[in-house]
Amino acid sequence: MPQYKVAIVGAGPAGYFAAMALQNLQTEELQFSIDMIECLPTPWGLVRSGVAPDHPKIKTVSKVFEKVANEPNFRLFANVELGSDITIEQLKEKYDAVVIATGTALGKKLGIPGEELVGSMSAATFVPWYNSHPDFKDENIDLSCDTAVVIGAGNVAMDVARMLALEPTELDPTDTADHAIDAFKKSAVRTVVISARRGPEHAAFTAPELRDLPKLEHTNVVMDKGDVQAAIVRAGDAPEKEVKSNLDAMLLISEKEATHHERTMKFQFLATPKEIKGNGSVEEVVFQKTGSEETFSIKCGLVITAIGYEAALLQGIPYEKGKVVNTDGRVSENIYVVGWAKRGPSGVIGTNKSDAADVMKLLVEDLKDPKNSGDVTDVITHNKVVTQKHWEAINEAEVAAGEPLGKPRRKAVDRTELLRMSGI
Ligand code: NAP
Repeated sequence: MPQYKVAIVGAGPAGYFAAMALQNLQTEELQFSIDMIECLPTPWGLVRSGVAPDHPKIKTVSKVFEKVANEPNFRLFANVELGSDITIEQLKEKYDAVVIATGTALGKKLGIPGEELVGSMSAATFVPWYNSHPDFKDENIDLSCDTAVVIGAGNVAMDVARMLALEPTELDPTDTADHAIDAFKKSAVRTVVISARRGPEHAAFTAPELRDLPKLEHTNVVMDKGDVQAAIVRAGDAPEKEVKSNLDAMLLISEKEATHHERTMKFQFLATPKEIKGNGSVEEVVFQKTGSEETFSIKCGLVITAIGYEAALLQGIPYEKGKVVNTDGRVSENIYVVGWAKRGPSGVIGTNKSDAADVMKLLVEDLKDPKNSGDVTDVITHNKVVTQKHWEAINEAEVAAGEPLGKPRRKAVDRTELLRMSGI
């Protein structure tokens, strides 16, 4: 019976869905042994370090990941960095196929003057900071200003704005990083402006996220009714279903009776960012009213851009326009790519399921005779590999630490601490 070895690089949703697809494709005649390689000491990718902590339901997909991981043909190799602990060439040699599932970790840039000022950052920094990603725990996030501007009209911008504008005690029963909860409790930010360069009819928010906003109990949500009505007119008689759902949800927000909480989330449309100004650190953002010459500015001390992501480079893998160069997921001989690294940062977590299943079918079509060229443990350069058993120890310890505090888990944020908890 042929036994093929497949390496999946990246333990996020796309990686787990690829592993699941391979498990589902197994037959008596076709068997896989799957090794998942992850640079962090913890798996789950964006489910751990991306999804907003006040949306815990989205994280329940981790149960699916654990089911995949507990199949006998699956091994986790976390805390293993591609490039230093093992190379892509070694993986190519050891495995019948290598699947890149490393996502898109880098925030896109606006490319406007002042973007590098202190106080201006990407959601690609801010989000992992509040989600306990070990590489971002020491970021200096200064929340001493009254107003923050979030640029972008997608769900990431909305997550970021909510996190800044929630009454911070609402985060106590969540798995938000302790350091972030402390910072939000001390935060002076009272107004968060979400700024879209186009009108509401073109916003990339999704309707369920918009519909949640009027339910916020301690935050004013302000959207101008005139902006929404003008968008409804521009969208015409037969808007696409998603556009209609979004506009309906936005109209409800704009018509909601005003509340008078301490914190406000305010939407601004048709505003193209032109420059971030400040003497050493951010003091204001200059916008142009989209479609006109008119400019205006907002005084603020923090600017967070949430305008999409790009894949970080892996040596030996071709990239173009922030993605791995591929044809339907095929990259080069025995190399494949799935998820956001393949198609760019769009879609919800579940979108990766069908995407990965399609690519794994191609992978199976391409298989030749099994290579049988030894085990990856022969080449990994250190002995601090976090296996599934080690990760389960971390997972249990985090959940146990969260329990008395009413949190789903209390995440460890330091690599050394995570390794200690793993029992390695
Ligand atoms: P996104 O949905 O693609 O939104 C990006 C936003 O940035 C768009 O509004 C875009 O406006 C704007 N933008 C791009 N370049 C810009 C520029 N140079 N200047 C000003 N604005 C610019 O991306 P995302 O918010 O990062 O989300 C990524 C994916 O994850 C999406 O599919 C999202 O739905 C998903 N997600 C889902 C959830 C959830 O379900 N709860 C949470 C987070 C993320 P234009 O349209 O004008 O280009």
